[in-house]
Amino acid sequence: MQKVSLINSSEYRLKKALEYDRAIPRYTSYPTVPAWDTEGFSPKTWLSALSDEKKVKLYVHLPYCEQLCTYCGCNKRITVNHAVEAPYIDVVLKEWELWKAKLPADLAIEEIHLGGGTPTFFSTTMLSKLIKGLTKGVKVIHPNYSVELHPAVTSLEQVHTLYDLGFRRFSIGVQCSDNKVLKAINRFQTLTQISRITTEIRSLAGTSINWDLVYGLPNQTFASIADTLEWVAQFKPDRIAWYGYAHVPWKSKAQRGFSDADLPSPTTRFQMQELGAQKLEAMGYQAIGIDHFALPTDELAIAYNTGVLNRNFMGYTHSQPGTIVGLGCSSISESWTGFAQNEPNVEAYIKQINNGDFALVKGHLHTEADRKIGKHITSLMCMGKTSFTISEEHEEWFWPFRQRTNFLENDGLVRWENGPATLVIPKRGNIFARLVAFQLDLRYWENAQQTRQQFSKAV
Ligand code: SF4
Repeated sequence: MQKVSLINSSEYRLKKALEYDRAIPRYTSYPTVPAWDTEGFSPKTWLSALSDEKKVKLYVHLPYCEQLCTYCGCNKRITVNHAVEAPYIDVVLKEWELWKAKLPADLAIEEIHLGGGTPTFFSTTMLSKLIKGLTKGVKVIHPNYSVELHPAVTSLEQVHTLYDLGFRRFSIGVQCSDNKVLKAINRFQTLTQISRITTEIRSLAGTSINWDLVYGLPNQTFASIADTLEWVAQFKPDRIAWYGYAHVPWKSKAQRGFSDADLPSPTTRFQMQELGAQKLEAMGYQAIGIDHFALPTDELAIAYNTGVLNRNFMGYTHSQPGTIVGLGCSSISESWTGFAQNEPNVEAYIKQINNGDFALVKGHLHTEADRKIGKHITSLMCMGKTSFTISEEHEEWFWPFRQRTNFLENDGLVRWENGPATLVIPKRGNIFARLVAFQLDLRYWENAQQTRQQFSKAV
């Protein structure tokens, strides 16, 4: 009892965060991409299992950006040559035709998400061509689409075009208000630009606005965080993604554009996270999962409060698990059978699709254990708890996992309820959810020699 209540102390959470500070996956999928069994993957098996999927969600990766943000870990291509737009959209639509040939004739699209890169790198003409092409001859269940917006390159005309095409969820990359930070990450945007698109979207009926904010950036201070949160208080977006900057310079060359000395120390980073969480909650936002906050009226908060919050490669979502078809270079597709990823290189992707082939380069076919463990990890990351069935308690992975949670239980970072049936992360322990999920990562523990330095810090 005593230990569980310790978690309410900020000093104690800091002590434990520093003690267990290590690189851990974000668990937007299980198994994580580096742990996929790529040798056992067969695109043919994966694709043939889709023939009964009557509903799909589409993720479209639009990789182009005009300028490189040096903190970025996304798959992107920097160019100011807008002649690349039309050929890329044509290829994405060709790719969708290949997928449609594998899916049932009475297929329906449930959702479309445009990510990148910078989706608004593309003109209104190209964005219209893309959405009209994707939905042509296909049933659309709810035209409730989502898109990521860069405030510096998004026009009001693009906002209106996207709205008319059915987009209702808009995610704006605000990151930080401090110009010293923006300069260090080579991202130039102004409050005027952010205000213009936020206000315009707000004026359109039925929209939901997310702001992405980041702590732990180079040159960032507590004053930068406080000032950014003043903006939040002023505009009150429906939800906030409060991300820790993922420093992985061994994977992302752009991150070598500033030095480690420019980054906040682990203690400062932890305190920044806590400052943001406290201020957001004081403004009426509800903490969701490991790094999101939503107003109680937002779909994400409603999904959390009704126990149906979900998580996939795009992050937290109120939408329920289902097949996701990933279109565009580097996109990941997801189904009950497993995962499949497209060629990440833009030119190689274009060439392959123009040759009439799928561009799948790797993937993973789930085992029964993958499905079960994936479900528990999603539950821990979304709801902060998960329940095991009696038959799962007899599986060979269960008791080693149960034992691996002993140190967390001793520290009050988790508790077991109803015998060993339900594992619970206490409310203030959500920053340790990745560490808890990690204990359940059977593929990691079975291959403990796996390279450790592949992921970002857990807190
Ligand atoms: S952060 Fe966004 S806009 Fe910046 S380089 Fe990465 S994908 Fe492009």
